Parts: sequence; C-alpha cells; structure tokens
Amino acid sequence: MSDGLTPPRLRNDCFAMPQGVAWVPVEEALSRLRSALTPVVATEPLKTARSVGRVLAADAVARRANPPAANSAVDGYGFAQATTGAGVQRLPLVAGRAAAGQPFDGAVPVGSAIRILTGAILPEGVDTVVLEEDCATDGATLAFDGPVRRGANTRNAGEDVIAGATALTAGRRLTPADLALLSALGIATVEVHRPLRVAVLSTGDEILGDPAADARPHQIFDANRPMLLAMAAAWGCVPVDLGHAKDAPEVIAACLDRGAREADVILTSGGASAGDEDHVSALLRARGQLSSWRIAMKPGRPLALAMWEGVPVFGLPGNPVAAFVCALIFARPAFAAMSGEGWRSPLAFTVPAAFSKRKKAGRREYLRARLDAAGRAEVFASEGSGRISGLSWAAGLVELPDDAAEIAPGDPVRYLPFAGFGL
Ligand code: AMP
Ligand code: MG
Repeated sequence: MSDGLTPPRLRNDCFAMPQGVAWVPVEEALSRLRSALTPVVATEPLKTARSVGRVLAADAVARRANPPAANSAVDGYGFAQATTGAGVQRLPLVAGRAAAGQPFDGAVPVGSAIRILTGAILPEGVDTVVLEEDCATDGATLAFDGPVRRGANTRNAGEDVIAGATALTAGRRLTPADLALLSALGIATVEVHRPLRVAVLSTGDEILGDPAADARPHQIFDANRPMLLAMAAAWGCVPVDLGHAKDAPEVIAACLDRGAREADVILTSGGASAGDEDHVSALLRARGQLSSWRIAMKPGRPLALAMWEGVPVFGLPGNPVAAFVCALIFARPAFAAMSGEGWRSPLAFTVPAAFSKRKKAGRREYLRARLDAAGRAEVFASEGSGRISGLSWAAGLVELPDDAAEIAPGDPVRYLPFAGFGL
C-alpha cells in the first residue's frame, strides 16, 4: 500500500530497561522513550490545501515574498512624502486610481496624489498613504494635515516573509493558519509524513464492546476503546479499531497480528500488570520482547512496552482514568516522535491551587483538575481511578512532583490543560 520511502524500523529491544530497575521515575521513563523512538512513517507530497493536521517532512521554502510588492494598508490617497511638509497640504489628484488587483498603469508625478485602496500596489512615485478619513477632496484636489511620516499606511515588499526564506520547518504539524501562510507564499505542495496509524485494542473477559448490548452483572462496557481511538484521531493519527479481546492468549495474539499488519503502533488497555489475569503482559513477555516499565506515578504505574511483529505496543492500564493519563503522558509524545513531529512535551503553566493535598515522596501524581473563575486549579473530589466522570469534569491535569508535597490553597501548582494535549 505504501509507495513512499520505507521509514526506518524500531529495534526489537528498543524498550529494554537495564537489569535491576524497579520503579522508574516519570522523567526517566520519558527520556528512555524519547531516545528509543524515531519517525516510522513514510513521506509523500500533498496539496497544501489538503495538508492540515499533517506533519511537514521537509522545510517549506517561500517561493514568493509576502507581500510580494509594496502596497497600501488602507483606503486613502498616495503620494511622495518628500514633497509634503507640516501644516495643511494641498495636492492635485491624478486621474484614475490604484486598487487591489487593478494596478495603476503609470507614474504619479512629484507633488501629485492618487486615489488608492487597500491592497493596491503602490504606483511609481508613491511611497506614503493618508487615510481617507483624514482627507478632504473635491475630486480635483486633495487636502490633509501634515506632516506625514514617510511610508505611513503602506506595507513593504517582503516585510512578512522574503522569497527563499524558510517559512515552516520540518516536523511542524500544519494548522489552518499554516495553510494561509504556505498558500500566500506560493507553496502549492508540501512534503508531509503519512499519518501514524494507531491500532487500539481493549482486553478483558468482563469487557462488552457494544454499549447498546444487554450487560450481565459481571460485564462492563468498553470505555477505553472509544476514548483512545478518539484521542488518536485528535492527535492527527489514523485510528484503527481492533475491537476487544477476551483474556485468551490466542485471541489477543490474533488481534495484535492484525494491528501489526494495519497500523504503525498498537495501543492496548487492560491486562498489562504482572498478575494471573494479566494476559497481555504474559503474551508480550513470551512473544513480544516485553519490557514492563513500573513507572512511579499515580494513576498508572505499569506500562507494558513491547514489539510485536516489528510494531511497537503500548500496553496501558485497564482503568480508564489511568489509561487516559498514561496515554496523555506517554503515548502522545511517543506518537508525535513516531509521526515525524519530534518529541512534544505537554503545555504546562503554574497556577495557584484551589485545594489542599498532602503527598508522600516516591511517585509523581496527576490529578484531574480544571481552572476556576479566578484561574486557580481545583481538583476532582475523588481521586478514585474508576471515576470516569472526573475525566469529563476535568479540563486538565495538575502534576504533583515526585517528592513529598504539602499543598495549601494559593500554593503554585503545575497545570497541564487538555487543550495543550490537542484534546
Ligand atoms: P486490568 O488492567 O485489566 O487489571 O483492569 C483494571 C480495571 O480496569 C478493571 O476494573 C477492569 O475491569 C477495568 N477495565 C479494563 N479495560 C477496560 C475498558 N476497556 N473499559 C473500561 N474499564 C476497563
Ligand atoms: Mg483485565
């Protein structure tokens, strides 16, 4: 299917942890992940108009300046500033006008003025424009108060971007504004990465895929899969739905096989710890070079990283809150790196806390949070990681440091808005 260049593959042991590592601090896990991952998607040329959300694979170079020629920034009258001075100025008007798309054919004589409209190229002999609101005219003569600054109300050629300049650099995920810039600079086609294909699999005997189904008491609806598929889509990836698998190795293996064929990375949820019913980690240990990272964070902790048929597998915790937070903190920057965007640290800023909280040293904590009307971070009433409603309530996360902390209202805390994760 891929007719572009074949991208480099990740090594099978790329997620290996050194022997004897027990709990990995979040920062160290992130830097290990960062050094293990490279872009895995091929590149292709694409029409600029269709490229929003794609990642530039090469710098985009301006074919033309913006603006291409000096022009008027307002509707008014243009003339050569050198012949004007202080006090009331009266200049004869030449016949005709200069408008956007209708350049004035000829030169404006020294000491004369011309009607000029926004976006019109400055005719020869014009270097300055006065606003029409500041002028009086009878159609033959123009009157305004001097002095006027040379170049007033005009835009210079190339004052925004000069021809030949790098407009956007490789790795940029293109925004609607970027499409305006590229188009203005005459860049009709861009070299972009193909979108990363992200396969999502839920696991667990208790999981029921269809929320319209009649659930038995021991069954729960699959909350993770729609969430993770939607997150992948929001991050500019192509979501691939692998459905859900019972806790049976051969069933999970068949789903992973399909994921490896149809996607560039596989996200699983559930069964990622080291218990009897943790079938994903057992299977990945047996057949997928599992490296189970016990990350010193709450919620989350075990993150199963493995390679399956050459494709990286991120095994997230089953708990929807933990799956969500682990996806934000680990999967998002990892996917960005694999997409050619480069590693992306989350947007974070410091705000006053609207809550009290005491934590012990040893693990980083992420609390479901949002800003109140005063810009202070309030946190969801319950830290229970089964409280999915808290994810909807929240607009971001408060990140508490690995060390012990005692937070009182008004203390500065780090706030990571979901918007900064592209959600
Ligand atoms: P596990 O990681 O498999 O031990 O699962 C931890 C908790 O998350 C259990 O209560 C599971 O029932 C729950 N869980 C696992 N997968 C999902 C899912 N896809 N949707 C909702 N809850 C899940
Ligand atoms: Mg399970």
